[in-house]
Amino acid sequence: MKITEVVCQIVRIPQIEKKTASSQDSVIVRVRTDTGLEGVGEADSSPEMVKAAIDAPFSHNIACGLRQLVVGENPLETERLWMKMYRATMYCGRRSLMITAMSAIDMALWDLKGKHFGEPIHRLLGGKQHDRILAYASILFGKNGKETAAIGRRWREAGYRAVKFGWEPMGQSEALDIELVAGAREGLGPDATLLIDAGCVWDARTALQRAHAFSAYRIGWLEEPLQPDDYDGYKWLRDRSPVPIASGEEECGRQSFRAYIDRQALDVYQVDLSRNGFTDSYYIKQRVEEIGARLCNHCYTSPVTVAASLHWLSTCRDAFLFEDCVEDSPLRHELTHEKVQAIDGWITVPDRPGLGVTLDENFVRRYLISESR
Ligand SMILES: [Mg+2]
Repeated sequence: MKITEVVCQIVRIPQIEKKTASSQDSVIVRVRTDTGLEGVGEADSSPEMVKAAIDAPFSHNIACGLRQLVVGENPLETERLWMKMYRATMYCGRRSLMITAMSAIDMALWDLKGKHFGEPIHRLLGGKQHDRILAYASILFGKNGKETAAIGRRWREAGYRAVKFGWEPMGQSEALDIELVAGAREGLGPDATLLIDAGCVWDARTALQRAHAFSAYRIGWLEEPLQPDDYDGYKWLRDRSPVPIASGEEECGRQSFRAYIDRQALDVYQVDLSRNGFTDSYYIKQRVEEIGARLCNHCYTSPVTVAASLHWLSTCRDAFLFEDCVEDSPLRHELTHEKVQAIDGWITVPDRPGLGVTLDENFVRRYLISESR
């Protein structure tokens, strides 16, 4: 089997809002082969930038666009192709955008591998340890405590036992920060799991003060309190915090996670399959389990990445929560025929070959704004 074509398709909903939500557009990467099989992947970044990283022609032995590195190759050789792409992009890659683009291709290669062998990806990764995972509804804060409480009630009524609130307007003042968390707890009621995603807004000392203040509302974790590059700050905070510290969604690839894992800087490592592919997510999982920390997915995009996250997280021994983005965007809910959504707060791991999802081609055509091959 040989790769014959790599197609990038950008889909975008007509009305884009200025908010911290990546479910408003997407770049879908389709890897086609001479056997007629096609694998599908997705990257969570600027779709146009990812497409450029794939489309770029050869410039240098270590500065080359990704398409021409994989066309003609055997798609089953995922580890070798990951390393080939890493080496051939060293001048422009190694972290962030290029790793994200590599991840979309890698996701498509694993989808192909599963379809070729007639097996779900979780089996190719060594076998799932969970058939279903408790999902948490992942959503943004309201403007104040009252709005946040109403959002919490909505998702509790939808059947979720766990809800995470994130980003703006947290970080503007101590009073508002505490009001938001108090509102979230009020809306969820006493029994639900409450998770707080600060959105990289404080220094370590302020974050420790907030961790103490928020612990009165029994939060399950405090996510991304610091800038993602503040590895020593995370280590300092984790050693002192009364609540678990979670982070990792900005990290792209094993080298990016290494700074956290080597320091044992986090309680919960959040891995985004659309930024790490299956190849590096598998490697990161092994390392995190080795140090006795916990793993969760990060996912705020379409059902393609939701499915990828489920295959991967189901193989993690201590998987305890699944991030289920509940943004009201058609991209989150309608891009594939399979809905891949939580029912009564639980989300089920797909069992069909590959990712186990199929694109709704009518939907893709309707929202398509750009394509390259
Ligand atoms: Mg987050």
